[in-house]
Amino acid sequence: MYDVKELLDKLEREKSLSKEEWIYIFDNYTEDDRKYAAEKARKISLAKFSNKVYIRGIVEFSNVCVNDCYYCGIRRSNKNVERYTLSKEEILECCKYGYEYGYRTFVLQSGEKAKSVKEVAEIVKAIKKQHPDCAVTLSLGELEEEDYRLLKEAGADRYLLRHETANEEHYKKLHPENMSLEHRKNCLRTLKKLGYQTGAGIMVGSPFQTSTHLAEDMLFLKELRPEMIGIGPFLPHKDTPFKDEPKGSYTLTLFLLSLCRLMLPSVLLPATTALGTITPRGREEGILSGANVIMPNLSPTDVRKQYMLYDNKICVNDASAHCNDCLKLRLSSIGYETEISRGDYHD
Ligand code: SAM
Repeated sequence: MYDVKELLDKLEREKSLSKEEWIYIFDNYTEDDRKYAAEKARKISLAKFSNKVYIRGIVEFSNVCVNDCYYCGIRRSNKNVERYTLSKEEILECCKYGYEYGYRTFVLQSGEKAKSVKEVAEIVKAIKKQHPDCAVTLSLGELEEEDYRLLKEAGADRYLLRHETANEEHYKKLHPENMSLEHRKNCLRTLKKLGYQTGAGIMVGSPFQTSTHLAEDMLFLKELRPEMIGIGPFLPHKDTPFKDEPKGSYTLTLFLLSLCRLMLPSVLLPATTALGTITPRGREEGILSGANVIMPNLSPTDVRKQYMLYDNKICVNDASAHCNDCLKLRLSSIGYETEISRGDYHD
């Protein structure tokens, strides 16, 4: 059959593999293979980005959500969530702090339909006016083309929308019937068409995920060619239908980060908060496995606990200034440092 290390060499050389080859990798890789991939991925990211890590300050501006995804702690049906929405002024205040720390990208994330598109467009314009040298990334979920266009015209540069899984059957097991994978994929294609730097991605180890699904995810990412890929482990939340499901694998998450770096060498790849939650040094190991982005939390401390997508999320009791100091120390402990720039995608 195949040999995993030979397949990893091929991936590095040709930047693509067949579905069968991907499945073989996911079914057969060893810890030694994972480290082999991480070593290669780290060399690529060092050659592309040196030892610099791009910082994106994330403002989780509302936990109001009309969707009911089975995995998510802020899903509509969770009555134990105290809902909040930050005002334009509060969001601008968060960005002001972030700017002082040297952040040059702000990510505005929320549940679905938390604020009107017009309101978000006004906020994007205000951020751009206050910080013309900064990029704005949005992560608001699925919208119509005219909404994405309006937000682009307001100045938004990037958009994060994980596809969650590229497999139709798997998608249906993670979401209620009114949501569709086809619509989500179309949103991603529209975002690309409109000129957004676009981010797709998955949760590693989401319930019912198989090696075949992961292979399909890699093929979908290859076809879409997103500028960003968000990958973190699935972590259960106590008030969701998936409360008793096992969490995703930490090492498989690291492996997937490395595989993404090998397949799409220039991609912007965060070491996610979920990775830092599953293991204390997860984000550092993510960077050492090929990631090149970290997204510290800029939300006001008093609302952080209400944006609990999964149990035990890190940094919810901290202030932004603390997160900033902590991050710098963590990066310097592995010989990396933060980069003060927008950190746009370059091929
Ligand atoms: N509403 C927007 C959307 O759906 O894209 C943005 C907010 S949504 C909460 C952001 C991401 O959180 C999702 O794409 C999902 O992958 C991740 N997420 C939600 N619940 C999670 C869980 N239990 N474990 C890990 N990640 C989770």
